[in-house]
Amino acid sequence: MTKDDCIFCKIGRGEIPSATVYETPEFKCFLDLAPGNKGHALLIPKEHFANVFEIDADTAGKLFSLGTEIARAIKDETGCDGMNLVQNNGECAGQTVHHFHLHFIPRFEGDWDGLKWPQGEADPEENKKLAEAIRKRI
Ligand code: AMP
Ligand code: ZN
Repeated sequence: MTKDDCIFCKIGRGEIPSATVYETPEFKCFLDLAPGNKGHALLIPKEHFANVFEIDADTAGKLFSLGTEIARAIKDETGCDGMNLVQNNGECAGQTVHHFHLHFIPRFEGDWDGLKWPQGEADPEENKKLAEAIRKRI
């Protein structure tokens, strides 16, 4: 996959729809369309970096800093008990979209046995409403 046909570059430019949680000139946060749990979000730099080996330290630092605010907003809105921040690099590590992204996966007490990811696509309308509710908490 090149930069030109990268799905997350297109989401970053607003060329394909996403349930946008939050956006700055440099970053975009949107809900995963096949969430592991309610409120599963992804945070990307709008500039294309394939993975952690390509992203520069300054951009990664700013992304994680914004990520702390996003994590708190998702926790407030979903009432989750905990959260996994996941970041895959390379196919052998489970990366399927080769544009750097940080996953925010809300976790609830006792959900381990039932947690299945991916578990099918979320309802797009529900995702939009949830994204807006989280945004209001940032
Ligand atoms: P990874 O396996 O870390 O590369 O994760 C890629 C994630 O992107 C998966 O959880 C997918 O469900 C999610 N995903 C793929 N396409 C889209 C999309 N168009 N909008 C939202 N999430 C997506
Ligand atoms: Zn990209």
